[in-house]
Amino acid sequence: MVEPYLTLTLERFRMSDGSDPNATDPEPDVNISGGSAGGGVDASFDVHASFDPETAGTLAEAVVDRLGELYWQKAYGGRDGFECLVRTILSQNTSDVASQPAHDALVERYGPTEELAASLVDAPHDELAETISGAGLYNQKAESIHRAASWVLEEFGSTPAFDAYVRDGDPDEVRERLLGVKGVGPKTADCVLLFAGGQGGVFPVDTHVHRIYRRMGIAPPDADHEGVREVLERSVPAAKCGFGHTATIQFGREYCTARKPACLDDPEACPLADVCDQVGVYPETGEVEDPSEATDPSEAAD
Ligand code: SF4
Repeated sequence: MVEPYLTLTLERFRMSDGSDPNATDPEPDVNISGGSAGGGVDASFDVHASFDPETAGTLAEAVVDRLGELYWQKAYGGRDGFECLVRTILSQNTSDVASQPAHDALVERYGPTEELAASLVDAPHDELAETISGAGLYNQKAESIHRAASWVLEEFGSTPAFDAYVRDGDPDEVRERLLGVKGVGPKTADCVLLFAGGQGGVFPVDTHVHRIYRRMGIAPPDADHEGVREVLERSVPAAKCGFGHTATIQFGREYCTARKPACLDDPEACPLADVCDQVGVYPETGEVEDPSEATDPSEAAD
């Protein structure tokens, strides 16, 4: 069923033609979802047939389908939960390019991954901070990782026991418990659920996702991260949420950047321009502002 306030724009979307759905554009090997081993697995057997903007039930699903034509169609899950938690903490407030080497150095020094929590609990703070220094905020991140490792051992007894809990536990309960650990916010908890738990229906909201879906007019302009997540998880089928997360990040890097979205100089430069409300983007003046600060068109008309 199409959400009423999305119907008009969805009609606009259906008039566009997408790129070759069979095109392969490999996921960057530095994406947080997969690290240097590559992200996710080919989802074509599961959901490819339904990656069709023409049959999407909501505008958000249609956008995700269109991203599927533009980038890749992957399914996620199956990674080790604690390693994923550490990886996501390292990625906070930095790029994957910076956090990936820090992750690799940490695993090399404190692995194997099934003993990671026990090794990290015993790691001297300065040594751990130095090991992950490339990821930035290394003192703070070392403390968060120490805290998470202690929590895992106290609550679950071992790294594999925690990994099994993330994989098999009730996703809402896993999320709630993760959020109770200082240094673990909603995005980190959702990334662990998505990439380690393989829980369908989890659409982590990072800065790109938060910006883009409010700019497009899919989420309310003043929605916080949780508000955007609720809209997306309600509007996008569970099997496509993880894919939507990673592909939207790529789209945010390539086209809809924070300060200079592609449409600013050339409306034709953005492949999703036909479905975007450009909230807070003003090509006529070259200005960009956060959607929450954008002028309400109804007020402007008064
Ligand atoms: S049209 Fe502009 S604001 Fe909208 S998605 Fe494309 S680049 Fe972003």
